[in-house]
Amino acid sequence: VNQIVDESVPPEVVAGCPFEAWSGPAKIARGPQVFSGRVNSRGFDLSDVSELARIGAAVAEAEPRGPVADAGAEVVEAALAAAQPWDAPVAERAEVLRRASDFYEREWGALFAVLIAEAGKTLPDAVGELREAVDFLRYYAGEAEAAPAPSQARGVFACISPWNFPLAIFTGQVAAALACGNGVLAKPAEQTPRIAAAAVALLHEAGVPAEVLQLVPGEGAVVGAAITSDARVSGVAFTGSTATAKAIARAMAGGMAPGTPLIAETGGLNAMIVDSTALPQQAVRDVVASAFQSAGQRCSALRCLYVQEDVAAGFTLMLKGAMDELSVGDPGLLETDVGPVIDAQAASEIRAYVEAARAEGRLVKQLDAPEGCFVGPALISVNGIADLGGREVFGPVLHVATFKAGQIGQVVRDINATGYGLTFGLHTRIDTRVQEVSDAVAAGNVYVNRNQIGAIVGSQPFGGEGLSGTGPKAGGPHYLQRFRLGPVVAPAA
Ligand code: GLU
Repeated sequence: VNQIVDESVPPEVVAGCPFEAWSGPAKIARGPQVFSGRVNSRGFDLSDVSELARIGAAVAEAEPRGPVADAGAEVVEAALAAAQPWDAPVAERAEVLRRASDFYEREWGALFAVLIAEAGKTLPDAVGELREAVDFLRYYAGEAEAAPAPSQARGVFACISPWNFPLAIFTGQVAAALACGNGVLAKPAEQTPRIAAAAVALLHEAGVPAEVLQLVPGEGAVVGAAITSDARVSGVAFTGSTATAKAIARAMAGGMAPGTPLIAETGGLNAMIVDSTALPQQAVRDVVASAFQSAGQRCSALRCLYVQEDVAAGFTLMLKGAMDELSVGDPGLLETDVGPVIDAQAASEIRAYVEAARAEGRLVKQLDAPEGCFVGPALISVNGIADLGGREVFGPVLHVATFKAGQIGQVVRDINATGYGLTFGLHTRIDTRVQEVSDAVAAGNVYVNRNQIGAIVGSQPFGGEGLSGTGPKAGGPHYLQRFRLGPVVAPAA
């Protein structure tokens, strides 16, 4: 089941986490969105214009994106030598993490400013990201307290996080490791070291000891390579590309003790099926959100939409109309729907991909976009998901295909054949179809009659299978199990 690690890795690592132990009923989320209410943060009121003005000023003053802060080989070695597990009772660790979550909420204006300036987050995305970070801190604090005795920290974890959720995923990995009493070497993506530094400062202020949580920003080839091949590290949590996850698995096999866990959350080639019974207005809204929110830079994002042929012409017309309503531009403005992609290189690669489709006569529509790192949302026609060639284009690019009544089984087989299995969306009003398709599709998170992004900590654990990750799911009841030694808890029925 676990396709991230290969045969060159010791069997203990290959075994990974049994998927049966953490998929199950939590796999399906039906619209509307469900909040658990137990850990979720209070949200932030963007109607306060003076606060927005303060954020705007902070964005203008925030350091421009520039050369990446780089710890370099010597600093990493010093960090490895100094790293310590967190030798405090679980109740104290949980209290510190909860205090940190309150500090995150207190600093919302400053954190939004860095998210916008450094990662190009739109304001709604910045809100969602901070909420998720806060939720991770509170949720894992509670899960650690509830752990069966005797559980024990593994030691020191390397936490390697992506630029697309530079606060939420960064915080989630770190909070999980810390909650279980591990020390952490946190390596943020090269593009987003500043928001990581802000998060670490708040965690230290809340009471996490300096030698327990150390920030090691820098290049994957130097910093990442060092902390994923060193025997002083007892586990790795990674979110990023499938190719990097495989490289990490090999590096770990070379330098770490057999059985060292790799918790990897990787890419996706996510599909949605819209059949002729779907409510078109709702499906169009959910397609637009799934494909273009966050400029398509979510691993959960919709990449290939299948629309039943009978309704495809009308549906595509509505979809094109809805795309016209999107505003692409300055991420600091509340009205912006689609901000920039992460950097100039990403923008030029995505643009080249869209231009190739245009040259082949497959570009159905693309919105205009400002100069710079902006890419206009694009719609490209394909025969099916196989035409994507296994490539995850990490931007606002949606492929659309049609299928005939009676072909859904084949469509699901084609989707499964990509080898990825992260999110999947289905719009239908046939109840038996919901069950049949959900059972047949190999995806960690299945979303029915809603968008397929934005998993919620505590109520919709997030994670995929196959090439999409090793499990267990983030924000779910089994996530902490691989961060500690001790009894494994059977999933709740
Ligand atoms: N958890 C996010 C979501 O549900 C996606 C995380 C990612 O892109 O890595 O949309």
